[in-house]
Amino acid sequence: MNITTKNIINDKNPIIRQKSQIVSTPYSEEDINFALDLYTYVKNSQDDTLVEKYALKPAVGIAAPQVGVLKQIFAVVVYDENNELHEYALINPKIISHSTKRCYLSGGEGCLSVDEKHIGNVPRYFRIKIHAFDCLTKSEVTISAKGYLAIVLQHEYDHLNGVLFYDHINKKAPLMPIEDAIEI
Ligand SMILES: [Zn+2]
Repeated sequence: MNITTKNIINDKNPIIRQKSQIVSTPYSEEDINFALDLYTYVKNSQDDTLVEKYALKPAVGIAAPQVGVLKQIFAVVVYDENNELHEYALINPKIISHSTKRCYLSGGEGCLSVDEKHIGNVPRYFRIKIHAFDCLTKSEVTISAKGYLAIVLQHEYDHLNGVLFYDHINKKAPLMPIEDAIEI
């Protein structure tokens, strides 16, 4: 599947609110290639020339339901606060632990599937550990993430449960500081 902006559904489509299925093992070539296609979309969307050529919407991550596929698969390409690159194409990711400490992204979050701007702080765990199968390295991985990378992983993970970032915004006081949370 060559993923383009045309394949991406938005939050007007009820599929975006459905839960994704666990991918059965052994993982098929089709599922692995699909995870890699999601990864390629994100990678290409960070290349100015390709963005212009193929009219891509820039992204740091994309989850399978965003292209109408209800499988527990997502990909991220993230430069962290130290400009270090983290890239994954994950099948069956599971958050196995998290900090009690929270964080939130300064200026709020955005999403390929949300056209309107939703202003507000989105509380996230500051640190998480995720276990998954990574299609880039073809291995089971346990990822320890913090800060920005942890935020992006939680955003994509939410998509697998039909949750969107603005669901977490305090409707009555969207910009109220989140207690004990670090601004990233
Ligand atoms: Zn999103």
